[in-house]
Amino acid sequence: MNNVQPSPFVIAEAGKCIGCKACELACFAVHNDHNGVVAAVGTVTVPVIPRLHVIRTESFTLPVQCRQCENAPCAEACPVQAIRREEGTIVIHEESCIGCKGCAMACPFGAISLYKAYSNGKVVPQIQLKERQHSAMVRSAKVIAYKCDLCRTRDHKDGAMGNVPACVEVCPVEALSLVHPDTSVSRSRTAAAMRL
Ligand code: SF4
Ligand code: SF4
Repeated sequence: MNNVQPSPFVIAEAGKCIGCKACELACFAVHNDHNGVVAAVGTVTVPVIPRLHVIRTESFTLPVQCRQCENAPCAEACPVQAIRREEGTIVIHEESCIGCKGCAMACPFGAISLYKAYSNGKVVPQIQLKERQHSAMVRSAKVIAYKCDLCRTRDHKDGAMGNVPACVEVCPVEALSLVHPDTSVSRSRTAAAMRL
């Protein structure tokens, strides 16, 4: 038997979520230091691009995000190896991403979205591709894939709660949780055994 541990991931409880989208804003803020976003109000000059997405149906609201799959189909589909497993998290290397959409099509959860890349509050140009517009050669925007990375680069000082992801921390109704599969399965087994 090998010692590979299943990766942790964030999951939501539909029965609790009230659809407030605080999780989306917290996720956006955590990933946009390089765009000057230090708090959600007054510092936002780029579109709000979260890495989890609150879906609404007639009967419930619920955020959807990456499950950090063990055999990640997105990584398999990426033709330039921009998606890799690093310390138990599936990570998209934005500098390598060519915006081909293969990962978004491959993800069974719809957890990957493609949007323009921003840096220092400005659109990053796609320097490999030029388009003709009004007879002048202009640069297109670089488009990249975004998804949950478990806040891996988050600075946990300033009162942040240990290694709790930003979305989990801000949810006012505790609808989100960081699941460690081994621990959770073991807890479920114990609870089931206690009921026997
Ligand atoms: S912060 Fe919590 S309640 Fe609000 S949308 Fe996200 S999961 Fe739902
Ligand atoms: S864990 Fe972090 S990166 Fe993932 S959805 Fe939550 S806030 Fe976004």
